[in-house]
Amino acid sequence: MVANVLEINAERLWDTLEQSAEIGRFRDVGLRRLALSAEDKQMRDLFVEWAKAAGCTIEVDRLGNIFARRPGTDPSLPPVAIGSHLDTQICGGRYDGILGVLCGLEVVRTLNDRGLQTKRGIEVICWTNEEGARFNPPMMGSMAFAKVISLESVLATTDDAGITVEQALDEIGYAGAAPVGRIFDSYLELHIEQAPVLDREGCDVGIVVGGYKTQALRLTINGDTGHAGGTPMAQRRNALVGAGYVIAAVNDIGLAYAADEGRTTTTRIESFPNLAGTYAEQVKLTIDFRHIDADRFKAMRAEVDAAIVAAAKKANVEIEVSEGWSWGSELFAPECIELLKTTAKELGLPYREMRSQAGHDAYAVATLAPTAMIFTPCFEGISHNVNEAIELTRSVPGANLLLNAAVTRANR
Ligand SMILES: [Zn+2]
Repeated sequence: MVANVLEINAERLWDTLEQSAEIGRFRDVGLRRLALSAEDKQMRDLFVEWAKAAGCTIEVDRLGNIFARRPGTDPSLPPVAIGSHLDTQICGGRYDGILGVLCGLEVVRTLNDRGLQTKRGIEVICWTNEEGARFNPPMMGSMAFAKVISLESVLATTDDAGITVEQALDEIGYAGAAPVGRIFDSYLELHIEQAPVLDREGCDVGIVVGGYKTQALRLTINGDTGHAGGTPMAQRRNALVGAGYVIAAVNDIGLAYAADEGRTTTTRIESFPNLAGTYAEQVKLTIDFRHIDADRFKAMRAEVDAAIVAAAKKANVEIEVSEGWSWGSELFAPECIELLKTTAKELGLPYREMRSQAGHDAYAVATLAPTAMIFTPCFEGISHNVNEAIELTRSVPGANLLLNAAVTRANR
């Protein structure tokens, strides 16, 4: 490495990660740390304790987003923000989200070790409910912060038990007073890739230049309910059958587009009355499809739409479609991407440019401030799974890139 570049303390980063992985343990190696749960509170409290010990001031906004600020020498300048999330999926892993947060903390700690001041402050952010595993949509903390969705709609969102985000925030004591929405100089997010490209290529650093065009659709399938034995087959309007045709067709579309990086998923189903002796009156289905190429995405969308119409006809049901989450493919700021590339070259780090297949808080923040992301490898791309795994030696290059890029930007 070149003499004047900074390096994080890898051992300390790993130790901090290991401590975080004790909170919300699930099935031996995994985590279940749902947004605004008791485990999330415990993790938040620990992060705040670590950040305070590193000399940061803490602010929490109405959505529970946490901002840990290391002041700069010029308080009038907007800070450089580094963030990700602490919550996990229901059968989640130990690194999705928190690696990015703890690399941000490690940036602060490394600067402290060296006694280095920066002109702009550096803020480490924990966004509320990135996963959407308890409250839907995902990424609601960053999206409401960026005013992509409304604060009121987020606070009123309920989980499956009918608890609102507002109640859950009050319950864990993270309904803060800091303003929702602010100016940043820039935003950098490090995240595990959640796909197998870096791992398979033996490359340790991905510089994310954008995302896959993504659209979720929420389907309400209406039939009517009746007796599982007595009702003649021709007379049935089984909403679950309509759902079945949609699920199979949507998967077939994903397979047909798989060769050039298309993806389709049915992610969630709710059936009513969902009883063994009757067929279903109403089914709610969430589907999601993604493509790296905008034209191919359009073609996929047309096929999905046609499949829904065909499924409704075949099952003799009505299907209402409303749009869920979506994001585009041109998201990140050329100046930030360029900074990451230049810094990687200075550090002598091989990297590859890539597009993210997953959603991230950075997408919403990109509408507020120049933004870019760094990906680090995870074993075979396994994620949203308890077996998610990373290697420290393959994560450190990305962390060092984050550190040096943030410092360059903070001294601007
Ligand atoms: Zn994540």
